[in-house]
Amino acid sequence: MSAHASLPMNPWLWSQTLGETYAAGLDPVGVAGMQRDARLAQLLRTAFADSPFYLARRPGGASALPPLEAVEPVGKAELMRHFDDWATDRQITRASVDEFLSDPERLADAYLGKYLVWTSSGTTGEPGIFVQDPLSLAAYDAIDALRLQDLGTPSMAWPAWGGAQRFAFVAATGGHFAGVASIERLRRIAASAPLLLQWMTPVMQTFSVLQPMDELADALMNFAPTVLISYPSCADALALMQSEGRLKLALSQVWLGGEQLSDEQRERIRTAFSCTLRNNYGASECYAMACECPAGRLHLNHDWLILEPVDRQLRPVPPGEASDSVLLTNLANRTQPLIRYKLGDSVRVCTEGCSCGSGFPAIEVQGRADHTLVLHDTQRREVRLLPLALSTVIEEGALVTQFQLLCTSPNRLELRFEDAVSDPKAAFARAKKALAAFLAAQGLMHVRVEHGTAAPLRHPRSGKVERVRLAMAPKTPRGH
Ligand SMILES: [Zn+2]
Repeated sequence: MSAHASLPMNPWLWSQTLGETYAAGLDPVGVAGMQRDARLAQLLRTAFADSPFYLARRPGGASALPPLEAVEPVGKAELMRHFDDWATDRQITRASVDEFLSDPERLADAYLGKYLVWTSSGTTGEPGIFVQDPLSLAAYDAIDALRLQDLGTPSMAWPAWGGAQRFAFVAATGGHFAGVASIERLRRIAASAPLLLQWMTPVMQTFSVLQPMDELADALMNFAPTVLISYPSCADALALMQSEGRLKLALSQVWLGGEQLSDEQRERIRTAFSCTLRNNYGASECYAMACECPAGRLHLNHDWLILEPVDRQLRPVPPGEASDSVLLTNLANRTQPLIRYKLGDSVRVCTEGCSCGSGFPAIEVQGRADHTLVLHDTQRREVRLLPLALSTVIEEGALVTQFQLLCTSPNRLELRFEDAVSDPKAAFARAKKALAAFLAAQGLMHVRVEHGTAAPLRHPRSGKVERVRLAMAPKTPRGH
């Protein structure tokens, strides 16, 4: 097959980005604000000059740069439809990117010699394809290195990366997803370190959430990680196994992201592993949007992105109020610009300061909060199925994203579809086949999967459709 072409490192760009990010951390209002304004102007200039898609939408058409508020918000489906007109590098085309993505062996390879490409898993509709340029990768690296640990005083997270730490990344595998692509890129950078430095470079390994929990536990114990990186629901299920003695890991840190983290999950994970826990808020569209501080709050990296909380009509929502959706402007990526992109999460910008003393605004995010399902095998033993694993099986196996899998009893599942799914019968047939194989691997071949024709249940507060949930809301925090 194709030879691996790893992404080139640009030490000058990397150190400059690190320096700027460090300076912003020293002065999150003044310096970060100036950096944000300069990056926004550069992004708008580049997008309106070199992206035919944005050029056609340029407000006013005058020579002066329009203010951000004048740019019309845009959604994923529209960008994906105009893929070939979207990027400022005119070599980026849907045909070439599809060809690249069709080969799983090319995960984290250099697309067109310099870009990292990843896809969103599609839980909010059609999967998105996102091209990360060298500056955006340098920005995510700088944020990871400087802000994952302590936002109050800019400190170095280097000790976590060096000193022969062993990172276990438990996630959806089998596609060019943002998580596995990022980790594979970092793994290759670490592995290419000069031999003399190998003793201090971290070791990383990716583990699939699609395997049965017992097998996952065995694989993790075999690897003996010091840092676990995963989704809250997965780390929570592993924490339960650790407290029951079925898993024995000596972790120094757990890093979480990708889903809503509840207070109960946080407490259970921290108690089971007795170690530091770090949460962050990111998306395929912008990998490092907010980092958690020691006080347990998410602080927005507002030197590298702009988040505008909005209501249903896309009007601004004042600080202190929870929004219906949020518009993202990624200031780091000038190659595939995201300007006032409809991200969908509900965000509240906190008006009160944070006890950690950080000048980066604190936010609260109401993201996805699917349920972990507990089914019974033929001996009536409990088998836990992670929402991420189930969604991945259905999305990849049935090529459908607008669904809801309901657990109606410990041996019955019901699959419903949203109205937008054009041929639900065919989608159900594909999903049933994929789920049957997945359930059989977990010893759950007797579990019935039925086609539900009613509309998916909606979250009582947010109105959103959770992809995987119990038919009845869980009464105890454990089910969450
Ligand atoms: Zn804080």
